[in-house]
Amino acid sequence: MRVRFAPSPTGYLHVGSARTALFNWLAARHAGGEFILRSDDTDQARGSDEYYRDVLDGLRWLGLDWDEGVEEGGPHGSYRQSERLERYQEVAEQLRDRTAAYLCFCSPEELDDRRRQAQAEGRPPGYDGRCRTLAGAESQARRAAGEAAVLRLAVPRPGETVFDDVVRGEVRFGHDHVEDFVLLRSDGTPTYHLASTVDDVDYGITHVVRGEDLLSSTPKHILITLAMGAEPPIYAHLSLLMGPDGKKLSKRHGDTALNAYREGGFLPEAFVNYVALLGWNFGDDETVFTRAEMVERFDLSDIQKNPAVFDNEKLIWMNGVYIRDLGADEFIARTLPLVEADLGRPLDEDERATYRAIAPLVQERMKLLTEAPAQVRFLFVEELEYDPASWHKVIVKPDSRAALEAAKARLGDLGEWTTDAIEQALRAMLEELELNARKGLQPVRVAVTGSSVSPPLFESLEALGPERTLVRLQEVLDGYDGQ
Ligand code: GLU
Repeated sequence: MRVRFAPSPTGYLHVGSARTALFNWLAARHAGGEFILRSDDTDQARGSDEYYRDVLDGLRWLGLDWDEGVEEGGPHGSYRQSERLERYQEVAEQLRDRTAAYLCFCSPEELDDRRRQAQAEGRPPGYDGRCRTLAGAESQARRAAGEAAVLRLAVPRPGETVFDDVVRGEVRFGHDHVEDFVLLRSDGTPTYHLASTVDDVDYGITHVVRGEDLLSSTPKHILITLAMGAEPPIYAHLSLLMGPDGKKLSKRHGDTALNAYREGGFLPEAFVNYVALLGWNFGDDETVFTRAEMVERFDLSDIQKNPAVFDNEKLIWMNGVYIRDLGADEFIARTLPLVEADLGRPLDEDERATYRAIAPLVQERMKLLTEAPAQVRFLFVEELEYDPASWHKVIVKPDSRAALEAAKARLGDLGEWTTDAIEQALRAMLEELELNARKGLQPVRVAVTGSSVSPPLFESLEALGPERTLVRLQEVLDGYDGQ
């Protein structure tokens, strides 16, 4: 099995394309075949190096390694279409020699007029084949005289292209609906249909796994393949992704660029797990399984035809599952850079030990890696910034001042600064003041961590240490007098 992923670098890698790449990769790894990465970069105007890099970074982040292709090389020379233009022109000439293709001199304006007329008369709007009957000598002479021409495939008529799609079953296209489409533009550049098909033939691709949006291009690709005297590959067209509302996945449903997930605190393992389940009839969309299991069980024939729903909330949930499953060191390795970036400086030895101690408590409560900095910032800053909502909801409540005063008194007298001792002292404070935990402890949490959302309170105070805890309580108490 030889499969390929063939992105056009005209945009950031889309989550739907990432799924296409993943399914190709899984198919190749399952079969012990090859996964090939080519760049469909013939559109110089819309393509950019930034998008090209983004696609590669995205695939690498997901761990989808390729056996041949751009930056990796392989037996087929270049895997960038922009570097293969001569090859496409060579094939085009061969097809013309075999009269499988012909030169067309109709100008864009003429074509527009005739298309409009056909529509008005209720005929199919595609190219009407006018130049198909030009004698070879005549079209040669006109081209030699410098007249602009495109090259079109002579689609067999009458005729029909039928193929067995792995996902969709038998698919038929009557040639009435397939015009004599363009292979080479008048400037000699290939169309997507020609370039893609020549590559698939040259690279020995056995299975083309791609999005359903390309289904209507497939008869064209089969016709070019046959005209080249080659055997068409097997096709599998994946249904598109939808949002939870049943509409085509778009910005409205959340981020559609993979890089937003990379930067948004997702683990690539979680992303791969979730996306693998979209349309693969393996389990429901909460099934957690390893990459090795995925590879072992993956089969193109299990892919479902129904559109799959990409649900951000489920993905976030699954990310939380994967975060909790990380080993302690791994969790620290993945979040420490985020914590340091947030602070704008590296942590010193002691601070790292503090982070190490509190990290497991943070890990239990997180769904996104990017939540880590806000949870632990209070431990590493001199000046605490108070979350205004927490301040208003908690600090300005009637019982809060008394709770903070009593907490400060009891914690100030504490012999040993341990989680247990802190807990005992604060529970005794609650009893003394006859306050429930919410009324009595939330003010302490907000005063010391700046927010009503933090790691567990007693552990947080232990990690912060007695001096800074007492100073912060005092600062908030001082604030009451100023009000
Ligand atoms: N380059 C095409 C695209 O990004 C896909 C080509 C293909 O898979 O045949 O839409």
